[in-house]
Amino acid sequence: MKLHGKTAIITGSNSGIGLGVARELARAGADVVLNSFTDRDEDHALAERIAAETGVTARYIRADMSKGADCRALIEQAGRCDILVNNAGIQHVSPIDEFPTDKWDAIVAINLTSAFHTTAAALPMMRRAGWGRVVNIASAHGLTASPYKSAYVAAKHGIVGLTKVTALETAEEPITANAICPGYVLTPLVEAQIPDTMKKYAMSREDVIKKVMLERQPSREFATVEQLGGTTVFLCSDAAAQITGTTISVDGGWTAL
Ligand code: NAD
Repeated sequence: MKLHGKTAIITGSNSGIGLGVARELARAGADVVLNSFTDRDEDHALAERIAAETGVTARYIRADMSKGADCRALIEQAGRCDILVNNAGIQHVSPIDEFPTDKWDAIVAINLTSAFHTTAAALPMMRRAGWGRVVNIASAHGLTASPYKSAYVAAKHGIVGLTKVTALETAEEPITANAICPGYVLTPLVEAQIPDTMKKYAMSREDVIKKVMLERQPSREFATVEQLGGTTVFLCSDAAAQITGTTISVDGGWTAL
């Protein structure tokens, strides 16, 4: 299954899952557009490395996914969007009554509202091209909840809802929209949660990983960015043409509990 001739835009892809998804799409032949809110030499170098490794065209475009105009400008600047992967995301952990409003606003803007803007800008391009795939990187927290993650859980449940609406509005066209719901993947976003959790439970790093994080993941293993990239490539394949408006969990059994 090859994605030659397709252009994929992956938001929040200078690290973690987004970068892994971009690599797997490039390995399947898609030209890729990487993105984040920074504009450093190393961001552009990531795209150059993917191009050198796979032979596809790879670009990096700076756009801040907390700003609606930037989200739409990313798609316009790319000029073509056959595959849209809404992946940019941040996290903040706090009880609701202490949750800072600016953190709530930022999480909802980056993890949910950005996908509304990019999808709105990309669908006309997909319709013109006669083919399209929207893949939203939600979370196990799009299907279940955990304490202290109110904004994240609300935004991730929200993006699962947006996925369903996108699928219904494109149901009679050769466009699909689905959400991937990862369990824990060891990326910078998860790394950043370890010190606070160590403090909160007075635990070692190893105990936080095994007894807190992977306690809810029955496989007791992190999912990998390569597995999430592979799932995205599958959703772009002909075999997945009738899969739309649904969620695929890559969570080691978390949501089976
Ligand atoms: P990460 O921190 O490695 O990556 C997040 C990406 O988003 C980075 O590239 C970052 O630069 C980008 N980003 C942040 N703010 C941005 C902004 N304002 N504009 C543009 N880009 C921005 O984290 P990750 O774990 O790879 O997370 C990627 C996605 O996967 C997120 O949506 C996250 O919620 C989701 N997810 C992660 C896990 C996990 O265990 N790591 C589990 C479930 C879901």
